Amino acid sequence: MTAVPETSYPRTARLAAALALVSLFTFAAAAPGQESTTLPPWTPGTLDIHHIATGQGNSTFFVLPDGTTMLVDAGAPTLPGQAPIADPRPDGSRSTGEWIARYVRRMAPAGREPEIDYALLTHFDRDHMGAVSDRSPWSAGEAYRLAGITDVAERVPIRAVLDRGWPDYAYPAVIDNPSVANYRRFLEVRERSDGLRVERFVAGRSDQIRLLRDPAAYPAFEVRNLFVNGDVWTGDGDAVTRIVPPLETVPREDWPTENHSSLAFLLRYGGFSYYTGGDLQGVPPDGYPDWADQETPIARAIGEPVDVVVIGHHGSIEPANAFFLATLRPRVSIVPAWSKTHPAPVVLKRLLNERIYPEARDIFILEFRDETKAAIGGRAERVASDHGHVVVRVAPGGGSYQVFVLDNRTESGAVLGTHGPYGSGRQEREE
Ligand SMILES: [Zn+2]
Repeated sequence: MTAVPETSYPRTARLAAALALVSLFTFAAAAPGQESTTLPPWTPGTLDIHHIATGQGNSTFFVLPDGTTMLVDAGAPTLPGQAPIADPRPDGSRSTGEWIARYVRRMAPAGREPEIDYALLTHFDRDHMGAVSDRSPWSAGEAYRLAGITDVAERVPIRAVLDRGWPDYAYPAVIDNPSVANYRRFLEVRERSDGLRVERFVAGRSDQIRLLRDPAAYPAFEVRNLFVNGDVWTGDGDAVTRIVPPLETVPREDWPTENHSSLAFLLRYGGFSYYTGGDLQGVPPDGYPDWADQETPIARAIGEPVDVVVIGHHGSIEPANAFFLATLRPRVSIVPAWSKTHPAPVVLKRLLNERIYPEARDIFILEFRDETKAAIGGRAERVASDHGHVVVRVAPGGGSYQVFVLDNRTESGAVLGTHGPYGSGRQEREE
């Protein structure tokens, strides 16, 4: 495959990486014994990936090396008046979209008004995009209602949206529910009023998500689109193959679900790599067709280890098959769990299984509920963190990274744990 050469970034970037590592050590050394420490602000050249633990679904905020910002998903599954299906974090006093927006505003690059350059929806389930009812609050112009992604957009400007459905929202069949209809009204209104750009995410491409502010300074940065709507990158140029047969040959009850149609991408920065893929799966239930496993063709296309892997479908029953894990060999796995069925005992068992791959690994779980731990037993103690925002901070140049776990019970931003530094490309650091 066409990996970005690890040596392609200039000497100055490597020097900056070394200096950044020194400052990270200084910070890590200062942490023990202090009451609480907060994450030092983002600085140019650093890549920050914030897995925001709202207890209500997925949302991940990226600050790319040149300050370009990206939000992947803004889940908010609970309808107004409904009891939440899981505990909202920090608490239930604000909407999930508002908590996400407040997090983004705190962590966005300083010195300019916070904004989201790219917003991606991996798929159209409520724990990834939000859900509306006729009791949801209206936007300022009363053209659409606020929940999840539209709620975030009301509070932080969004410049461009990529999703799996634009413009017709008709794969595999017309997507017809109140939340998607509301989201489409939001897109139409904001395209007209604010010049919002909307594109369909296309598998195979590496030019849909780009650095927008200073790309020339970071040539070793790339986002490769891996999968969407049954199309998977082949690992060769921009080429894709289709794993789902023509729909007219497939019984309607076997058509791909929202989860099966999620978008996935691989982010590279120097030697560092990161995978995320919505609710894609790798262990089809008995009786399902082969293509209900999207992870195997994705792992074939990637074909080499990946430093940080976000486990699909919240770690619930079907993700993280053995071939996928044996190929990607994640040093860090992040499980975006929020419900009591996340992660499934069998998935945690696979993530820990050293017969699948023998190397060291750390597993971070955004919300590992007590009843879930009790059902799993002793294995539940072997995770690196069981609650909190999980922040992957990649040093300038991409040669190393750390993982910070931040308090999600308050907005203090207190650091609950610091892990690493890890050498990118599994170059272990024994500091
Ligand atoms: Zn989900």
